[in-house]
Amino acid sequence: MSLKFDVVIIGAGPAGLGAAYELAKRGFKVVVLERGKRPGSKNLYGGRIYLTAISKVSPDLCKEMSNLGRRVVRERIMLTHSKTCMSIEIETDEWSGGIVTSLTRFVEWLSQKVEEAGAYIVTSAKVDALHVHGNKTSGVRCGSDNILAEVVIDAEGVNRILLEKSGLVPKLSPGDVAIGVKEVYRVDPKDIEKMFDLEENRGMVLLALGEVLDYFPGGCFMYVDKSHIHVGAVLYLSNYTKFRRTFPEVLDSLYKLPLFRRVVKIGERVEYGARLLPVRPLQRAEMDGLVTVGDAGGFLIHVGPIIRGVDYAFVSGVCAGRAVAEMLEKEKRPSVMTYRSLFSKYVRDTPLMRDIELFRRVYTYYEAHDIYSRYVGFIVDLLREYLEVKNGVKSLNEAMYLSMRKHGLSIWGLAMDYLRRFRKM
Ligand SMILES: Cc1cc2nc3c(=O)[nH]c(=O)nc-3n(C[C@H](O)[C@H](O)[C@H](O)COP(=O)(O)OP(=O)(O)OC[C@H]3O[C@@H](n4cnc5c(N)ncnc54)[C@H](O)[C@@H]3O)c2cc1C
Repeated sequence: MSLKFDVVIIGAGPAGLGAAYELAKRGFKVVVLERGKRPGSKNLYGGRIYLTAISKVSPDLCKEMSNLGRRVVRERIMLTHSKTCMSIEIETDEWSGGIVTSLTRFVEWLSQKVEEAGAYIVTSAKVDALHVHGNKTSGVRCGSDNILAEVVIDAEGVNRILLEKSGLVPKLSPGDVAIGVKEVYRVDPKDIEKMFDLEENRGMVLLALGEVLDYFPGGCFMYVDKSHIHVGAVLYLSNYTKFRRTFPEVLDSLYKLPLFRRVVKIGERVEYGARLLPVRPLQRAEMDGLVTVGDAGGFLIHVGPIIRGVDYAFVSGVCAGRAVAEMLEKEKRPSVMTYRSLFSKYVRDTPLMRDIELFRRVYTYYEAHDIYSRYVGFIVDLLREYLEVKNGVKSLNEAMYLSMRKHGLSIWGLAMDYLRRFRKM
């Protein structure tokens, strides 16, 4: 069977749905093809969505989004070393614009908005190939159906199998991605509020690195949602083989931390899963009739503890949707040059491209093993030497000297690392 649409979108994740919403609102005939049984069933992430960039492109949707989870008012970074945990925490009365929610809940809600706007979402529909002829894409093949369209929007996520199969992007290498493993615990909201000393609808984010993951590059997270707690770890895949742990073993290591253990005690595990996420800026593929958004287009930033995938997937989808709409209104033959200039126009008012440029400049610094081993140990031991009075009170200078000696650091080495790396991070 052959069907014809204005635009066909591959993947009902935040990116594909953002594009579909914009195009459907403007009256275009749009279909979203999703391989999962229902929207949201295949999506997995950590737990926090930053709303600031979304509020710039879709203020109305953003207002509703902010009620989908707990508002983040507190963040804690935990440095773990030698059976000690040092926490740095910030808490603010003023909401920073992030929510903790489940990606499934977010995607289900967004799918409803997209259908109300007039787009079709077809589930259990796995796209098998793109129709590429020379420099142009004219549609997709989905089982025995050919779905033709003026423009194909590829929002298939980080595993860019369709783009790889068409020879438009190279295969992912282990250095391009990290592996994320997580589980979700259902907990009574009252217990959550008591345990974390939180008010109703207020949430928090905890990140831990160092000994908890045997000092491997990466980190663990805990996101405190309305009635769920998301717990997991992200590890750079290039190091994962040396880590020699199965996914359940990685999750077990998190429960070395007492706070993480308490969650298991009071909650019921309702979900678990694993997925890849980019840790390097991925190459974008575009041609006449084909645009890429979200993870598939490299629209994600991963700078240390900050992962901004969902908001930038959505924002890239919205801007692509607007650019494609304007292009189809203006031109008979969609061209990649016109698309690029229109996309730049729509994205200009958002921090997306500037942040991605920053990511391009700094990502390599976060892969270095010694940040998670030597520097985490140095900071924890410095504070321990300073605060513990077992061997007499020490000045800050003495504590620093002792910790530096213990971790093989010198003032010269610290100054060089500051100039070469930390200054840029
Ligand atoms: C462990 C982990 C933690 C993370 N934490 C955070 C976080 O806290 N905050 C944050 O903002 N981001 C986080 N991210 C990143 C975030 O999940 C992604 O950046 C975001 O989901 C990208 O959205 P997307 O729409 O581009 O792709 P996806 O969400 O991956 O959606 C792609 C969709 O395409 C469908 N699809 C794929 N191939 C086909 C096909 N051939 N045919 C039909 N459908 C197809 C899939 O089923 C899926 O529904 C995390 C990621 C991981 C793995």
